[in-house]
Amino acid sequence: MQRFVPSRAYFEPQALDYLLGKKLYDQLEALNIPVRMTSSHNRVTGLPGKTTAEGYREAKKTLVVGVRKSSDFSTCKPSANYQLPLNTSCSGMCEYCYLATTLGKRPYLRVYVNIDEILAKAKKYIDERAPEITVFEGAATSDPVPTEYLTGLLFTAIEFFGREPYAKFRFVTKYNDIDSLLIAKHNGHTRFRFSLNTETVISRYEHATPALAERVQAAVKVAEAGYPLGFIIAPIFFSSGWQDDYSHLFSELAVKLPETAKRDLTFELITHRFTKRAKANITDVFPKTMLPMTEEDRKYKFGQFGYGKYVYDAERMAEIKAFMIERLSEYFPAAKVEYFV
Ligand code: SF4
Repeated sequence: MQRFVPSRAYFEPQALDYLLGKKLYDQLEALNIPVRMTSSHNRVTGLPGKTTAEGYREAKKTLVVGVRKSSDFSTCKPSANYQLPLNTSCSGMCEYCYLATTLGKRPYLRVYVNIDEILAKAKKYIDERAPEITVFEGAATSDPVPTEYLTGLLFTAIEFFGREPYAKFRFVTKYNDIDSLLIAKHNGHTRFRFSLNTETVISRYEHATPALAERVQAAVKVAEAGYPLGFIIAPIFFSSGWQDDYSHLFSELAVKLPETAKRDLTFELITHRFTKRAKANITDVFPKTMLPMTEEDRKYKFGQFGYGKYVYDAERMAEIKAFMIERLSEYFPAAKVEYFV
């Protein structure tokens, strides 16, 4: 899998007041990437692309470097207490991307350079709740790995949480460019998760992301570096042959993972769902999509963010849940299933 190299970058002027901002500016210039200024990282205008589909693809090649101003962190159920805001979006083009609802049709990649201020805020949350453990999620609005080789944001966050006795960090990725993180002093405080799916789902819907074998190989390296490991299986599709496909995924994973990693392993299981807004965006960007998004086949469920989503009905959900839990307990008897939604 080739590294993400942006076609263009935009900087907020204030980003250049930070060491990381200056470093990124020099790095991008050295790579001959056109750099422009933007008054706000929230409103980047003038991106190329005449159609929605072109606009989406160009946005996925655009890096925006900014300063995270709002001081409060969003909550992050069910996987953590708070989101750790490091970046948004990613270079992948998964048709079902859960960010389609929030980031819209121009999901450019955004990175925040005021990492010391962000971590200082995290420290306040930790101190307020101590001795209770506070958990931070680093991938709530992004896949943070594709830009890591430029920014080092994850590395800095991992080492920060490694020093905090009352905090844990977690993030998830589909990417295998993780070697720089293997030497971080994580102290067991970061759970490094990979998002996996069946080969069919990956090849059909997860464009510009590493193959399953590359993700599993990266997970093995992460386990060997002593990180607690986890997997998100998402989205789970109830489609023809799904049971065989997911059984195959788990049996392959069980063969590849070191035995030590299996003693402290987590799984998060998320079935496929979509919002009306996401469906409209997806069909604009991927007009030939084969994603199953027929409202009549689903149950409408009201969500925590004020908009509802279409999920599988109760009978299918129960069938998927029973099957996944049974297979996981067969292949990974010591693993913990953190949630099923
Ligand atoms: Fe969205 Fe994750 Fe795919 Fe990136 S890798 S497009 S964040 S689902």
